[in-house]
Amino acid sequence: MIVAPDADGIRRAAELLRAGSVVAFPTETVYGLGADAFNEDAVAEIYRLKNRPSWNPLIVHVADVTAARALAEEWPDGANELAAQFWPGPLTLVVGRAGGAGTIALRVPAHEVARKLLDATGLALAAPSANRSESISPTTAQHVLRSLPEVPLILDGGPTAWGIESTVVDVTCDLPRLLRPGALPLRDIRQVTGAIELPGTVLDGAARPAPGMSKRHYAPRAKVVLTDDVSAVTGVVEPAAVLTYETEDVPGAEILSVDPREYAADLYAALHRLDDRGVATIIVRNPPATEEWMAVRDRLTRAAA
Ligand code: AMP
Ligand code: MG
Repeated sequence: MIVAPDADGIRRAAELLRAGSVVAFPTETVYGLGADAFNEDAVAEIYRLKNRPSWNPLIVHVADVTAARALAEEWPDGANELAAQFWPGPLTLVVGRAGGAGTIALRVPAHEVARKLLDATGLALAAPSANRSESISPTTAQHVLRSLPEVPLILDGGPTAWGIESTVVDVTCDLPRLLRPGALPLRDIRQVTGAIELPGTVLDGAARPAPGMSKRHYAPRAKVVLTDDVSAVTGVVEPAAVLTYETEDVPGAEILSVDPREYAADLYAALHRLDDRGVATIIVRNPPATEEWMAVRDRLTRAAA
């Protein structure tokens, strides 16, 4: 059920979460499917509803840096500086996990509804994107309802501002390491950390895949074909549609912004719209191979895998 995020909606959502149920809520990146991070059954329900593979870890959302530090074994300088600069916001930090082996991914979301929910529950909320595993992340409450009709309550905060998942950075080593490109640009992160290690470009020269990231992900129902030249693609299963950006005029195409941030904000909604049209193939013009497009290209590559 879709519910307005007024005082009553927040109260109902908080009650469900405290009772060990799940709730979908907006964040500034995409909608999340939240549960009490320390209730095993509640977290298991997230995996069941999403059909998410058990090896793929969840990001834990907390109210502030103090709450984040309480869940970390150590709080390195890198985490401190990045959190001071970018929290609340679309950055996830991976640190050593308090009192146990392994790591934990933490984020303080900026969306007003997410913050109210964290305050109202006093909980740390594990929350992956509120969609079936491997499919497109939801940027509206309606997307959540269609992907996960069984979710008992969806707080409707309207379309999300960033429209793409958070940037994930591992700060357990001296040199911060990018695990997933996302909403927060690398340029901004480098202004704080100086350098950042990128996937596949580690110092010893050996490729090292980011953990917890499956190759196919973020995919619509239609087959996605990535190309540098939309007019040169032939032999695809019809009906086909084209997704491109403003520098090109293709009649009938979905045309997104040439600005990478605006493009990212509309990308999933555009893929949802094309799926709704019932197309069998989505021909996507490759965005430029520059770093500012890294997160978008990552999602498109996975959608096409
Ligand atoms: P999602 O919640 O669907 O946006 O996906 C969460 C992503 O966060 C995972 O796919 C991982 O890339 C990353 N992540 C979560 N926890 C960890 C962790 N402990 N170590 C490394 N990456 C993590
Ligand atoms: Mg996801």
